[in-house]
Amino acid sequence: MSTKPFIPYGRQSINDDDVAAVVAALRSDWLTTGPLVDVFEQAVASRCGASQGVAVSSGTAALHVATAAFDIEPGDEVIVPSLTFAATANCVVYQGATPIFADVDPETLLVSPSDVERLLTERTRAVIPVDYAGQPCDYKTLARITNTRSLHLIADACHSLGAELNGRPVGTLADATVLSFHPVKHIATGEGGMVLTNDSVAASRMRCLRNHGMNLDARSREKAGTFGYEIKELGWNYRLTDIQSALGISQLSRLDSFLAKRRDIAARYSDAFLSRKDFTFLATRDGVRHAHHLYVIRIADEMPDGMRDMVVGRLRAEGIGVNVHYPPVHMHPFYQRKFGYGPGMCPNAEKAAKRVLSLPLHPGLDDDAVERIIDATLRTFDHLM
Ligand SMILES: *Cc1c(COP(=O)(O)O)cnc(C)c1O
Repeated sequence: MSTKPFIPYGRQSINDDDVAAVVAALRSDWLTTGPLVDVFEQAVASRCGASQGVAVSSGTAALHVATAAFDIEPGDEVIVPSLTFAATANCVVYQGATPIFADVDPETLLVSPSDVERLLTERTRAVIPVDYAGQPCDYKTLARITNTRSLHLIADACHSLGAELNGRPVGTLADATVLSFHPVKHIATGEGGMVLTNDSVAASRMRCLRNHGMNLDARSREKAGTFGYEIKELGWNYRLTDIQSALGISQLSRLDSFLAKRRDIAARYSDAFLSRKDFTFLATRDGVRHAHHLYVIRIADEMPDGMRDMVVGRLRAEGIGVNVHYPPVHMHPFYQRKFGYGPGMCPNAEKAAKRVLSLPLHPGLDDDAVERIIDATLRTFDHLM
């Protein structure tokens, strides 16, 4: 075992300004939904080129209010990639609808638009592509598929805040765009998430759904001097707090420096790995400005099965917190049991899931840590050859 400090694969970066912002919020009149939620919503929306931001308590809650506001309901099908975090599909199941798993492109691990097209049925209501590792999917093709059939396109952009496709920011590429502010993501609020959209009707419905489905929140009731409210439809308590929003506003002002740091580290990894034959890194599509949430390497097809697990074991033993993103969602016991899914449904995702690993990537990694990770990775592979 190594005595050097453990390097996590992802981690928040909190400075004195972030701390001061949270302390100021704690001393203010509002701890839960107050004026800072509005400020945070407008700041993220304007950074991402959207007119509306709806802040909620997690990325998962953001996915859920988006599917609910677009009336996804029992009997409906929603197409999602299998190589994602379970929340992308769970939100469909929360609404009583059926997630249909599309396969990914083997070079980028982004959802394959042709597989999405193959899976369309009379019941399809929405598609939720995932900007895996931080690069936007092929939204041009996906939007053509969804627009011609009046389907909803909901971008799961939990990996891609700050990314662009052909000069257009993530936040403008789909009908609604979902962000997460979990500590491993680009900016942190502890737990937190947001839906971005230009659809003001959908946005106000989502604001209602995040607060039990009430027509007036506590602050509007106080302002109006009224105690009355109505439950318009069934919602949840998915509110983000002003404390969290204070942190989010401060973190957002640091987003460009976070993105630059991630971009630098990813470039150093790619330079160091360029000539490897035993593993590769993922391709970046033309026109993409990458947000580098994850740095994923993939064991070459010629290398034996089981090599990935050995690499993960050895790197972790050296204190390098590598991770695997993700077990294909259709293979989880719940999805096999409830929907009868299983092996063979998404061959590219199933194959990739056995061969990928994510190296640490976050703004807190200094030059020495990056050197240590590169050195340990190259040594581990050389040794296993
Ligand atoms: C992080 C993440 C989510 C969920 O976000 P939480 O804030 O943890 O609920 C959803 N989808 C993807 C692809 C994610 O990476």
